[in-house]
Amino acid sequence: MVGAACALALARRGFSVALLEAREPQAWHAGEPEDLRVIALAPSSARLLDGLGVWRGIEAARVSPYAHMRVWDAASGAELAFDATRQGRAQLGWIVENKLVAWTLWNALEAAGVRRVCPAQVESFTQREDRVVLDLAGGEPLSAALLVIADGAGSRLREQAGIAAHGRDYHQRAVVAHVATERAHEATAWQRFTQEGPIALLPLADGRSSIVWSLPEARAREVLALDDAAFCEAAGVASDFRLGRVTTTTPRASFPLRLQVAERFAAGRCVLLGDAAHAVHPLAGQGANIGLRDVAELAGVLGEARDAGRDFTASHILQRYARCRRSAGALDARAFDAVERMFAWQAPGWTALRGLGVRAVDALGPLKRALAAHAAG
Ligand SMILES: Cc1cc2nc3c(=O)[nH]c(=O)nc-3n(C[C@H](O)[C@H](O)[C@H](O)COP(=O)(O)OP(=O)(O)OC[C@H]3O[C@@H](n4cnc5c(N)ncnc54)[C@H](O)[C@@H]3O)c2cc1C
Repeated sequence: MVGAACALALARRGFSVALLEAREPQAWHAGEPEDLRVIALAPSSARLLDGLGVWRGIEAARVSPYAHMRVWDAASGAELAFDATRQGRAQLGWIVENKLVAWTLWNALEAAGVRRVCPAQVESFTQREDRVVLDLAGGEPLSAALLVIADGAGSRLREQAGIAAHGRDYHQRAVVAHVATERAHEATAWQRFTQEGPIALLPLADGRSSIVWSLPEARAREVLALDDAAFCEAAGVASDFRLGRVTTTTPRASFPLRLQVAERFAAGRCVLLGDAAHAVHPLAGQGANIGLRDVAELAGVLGEARDAGRDFTASHILQRYARCRRSAGALDARAFDAVERMFAWQAPGWTALRGLGVRAVDALGPLKRALAAHAAG
């Protein structure tokens, strides 16, 4: 998603771009039920996608706008409430299938002049004085003035660029499923922080909710092994039956969670973006949004340099992007990590203090507005 958005953004700024992708994205069809992988897209992401000419198509296809967010602490009962109207917006964001965004971007690439090279597995690359030469599995080498690395959290190309990444394994998995509930979701993103981890119920366009339930690995395995009825019961208990009982569920999937931020976002003729640069806990629903902010910044910095007749691959130009996005990405990653730690710690005195803190943030209008504005990008 992030690499394709970047290719499109750079092509729209007049750059000559090739996108190398190992696997063709899965086709999205309107008649099919909603895919299990969904993300909360922030207004900044919708704005970027709109500028790339793809948002209207995505919005018309299937999105679920949400206007409210309720986040509460199981231990203290303290709750944070966000409402779009208080931010002067019609919605806080949209729940969208990853597959729909990726497929729409993929289909817009060729018309924008991007050369799609797929399937193309980049095996390695060499940085030369004036270019980067890429070796593809079973294909001819390709070369380019700049290599944008967006190969995801397990990025092998980042390692080859000599860039280390730091962070920690959460030893958690996010269990995802689409569920029907007794009560309507009310266009609200619900998230309850429990002793085991946060469980989110995100509103889907068809009236169901998408569960994202972060659990310690062993507990996640237990939950994944439950039959449908037992899973519905467990999800209802974990969400405190806020939407009533969970009545039906799809099969479940799960994803390992880790925190990871690259030491640098540029090296020689390479820049990093998306999960290759930063992987964050899904509790704030921000991973792809941060990646799309990288795209906006990179396209802006490279475009400005080229428009001014400068060498857009010059180190000081790439460093301008790298410094700006690394500090923003690292700050977000640490902030989400701090929230994860804050809610994971269950000492009795601490839970009472945390409850006071959550209530104070909820009551402090300017602080809450600043948090919402940051999440909106
Ligand atoms: C449970 C869960 C919930 C989430 N919820 C949200 C949310 O609500 N909001 C949000 O903003 N984010 C969310 N995220 C994060 C979001 O999903 C990721 O940040 C985003 O998908 C990362 O996209 P990416 O394009 O950077 O990387 P990826 O999606 O990993 O894409 C990498 C691409 O590179 C290709 N590739 C890899 N290696 C090579 C190679 N050698 N040669 C060629 N191609 C290669 C792969 O085929 C793939 O297409 C969530 C994540 C999880 C796990």
